[in-house]
Amino acid sequence: MSQLDRYAVLGQPIAHSKSPRIHQLFAEQTGECLQYSAIEVPAEQFTEVVTSFFANGGKGLNCTVPLKELAWAYSEHKTERAQLAKAVNTLALQQDGSILADNTDGIGLVTDLKHNHGIALAGRRILILGAGGASRGIISPLLAEAPEQIVIANRTLAKAQQLATEFTGKGRVSACSYSDLNGQSFDLIINATSSSLTDELPPLPEGLLANQGSCYDLAYSNKATIFVRWGLEHKALKSLDGLGMLVEQAAEAFTIWRGIRPKTAPIIDLLNAERH
Ligand code: NDP
Repeated sequence: MSQLDRYAVLGQPIAHSKSPRIHQLFAEQTGECLQYSAIEVPAEQFTEVVTSFFANGGKGLNCTVPLKELAWAYSEHKTERAQLAKAVNTLALQQDGSILADNTDGIGLVTDLKHNHGIALAGRRILILGAGGASRGIISPLLAEAPEQIVIANRTLAKAQQLATEFTGKGRVSACSYSDLNGQSFDLIINATSSSLTDELPPLPEGLLANQGSCYDLAYSNKATIFVRWGLEHKALKSLDGLGMLVEQAAEAFTIWRGIRPKTAPIIDLLNAERH
């Protein structure tokens, strides 16, 4: 019997990951034969595990917290968006034996916002809360949608300033602290902090969300996250969590690996139904 093509998601912790389920559903839907597992990998073992995975016939990997920056440093061939993000969530074995590195998080977010929820980005004022790995991944795909402006607010101001500097010349991006947000308002507020995971909110002033504005939390949970609830309380047109982004970034990785694009809507519907 020929062996199934092998894929995996690496991270720590990883037991909670929905990626194996999502890729299994994609495989069933498209008729592709593959195996996708979750492997717990501490940062200090990353290089050894990745090298051995591909040396033993593995075809592709996803990398999540805390490995995305390490995956970026590991790879010699990067897509432009991965190069800019300095963080990588997808590694793909190429025909010539090399490993291509990509970051599909940002395109996953943009697809979920625009196509699944009809949220326009062109000409809009966008606020990103947080300046960690996830923020890095979403800035260039958001800029490609020609928003009026992107402001990055972060608890540690220097990290937001560093990020804004890296994207200078690609669009109107600036950095600020949370206290600088007083008196400003935005059409779309994206929570890219990890604060929802501990049920905390960054300090957000009244009036921050423009009339008819929307909120998007990259974190997701079976119950509405604290930031999704904040959006609802502040009359957001839409207040969404990151489940759709998770499925869309996975679809992008699947397409890179298998050359066939799965339909995401039925998978998002299924995962949504399961959390109610
Ligand atoms: P990082 O650890 O790299 O960055 C965390 C960020 O959150 C930092 O900017 C940090 O600020 C900020 N932060 C943490 N706690 C608080 C708090 N209590 N108040 C204010 N700011 C806080 O995490 P990632 O960027 O990798 O991930 C961020 C979120 O995005 C996570 O919830 C993750 O699950 C989610 N995510 C979802 C994806 C999806 O597909 N839906 C994909 C990728 C990520 P400081 O710099 O000051 O420490």
